Amino acid sequence: MNRHHYLCQGCAQPLFVVATTQAGKPDLRWEIDHQDEGNRGCSVLPLLPLLGEATQPEALEYAMDVLSPLRR
Ligand SMILES: [Zn+2]
Repeated sequence: MNRHHYLCQGCAQPLFVVATTQAGKPDLRWEIDHQDEGNRGCSVLPLLPLLGEATQPEALEYAMDVLSPLRR
């Protein structure tokens, strides 16, 4: 299990990102949601939790709507 850190594009609050490896599959299973479940006013709340299988979270459907651009 790996952890990545992103901010929510809707409310700028931190997101937790959990990636679970799958035996025999190159894709990881992702679960992305607010760390604080109290963000009722967040504009992307209908898209959360963001679930899916991909090699990286940016490849998930709606990822570009939810994940803020990576800070360098
Ligand atoms: Zn949010």
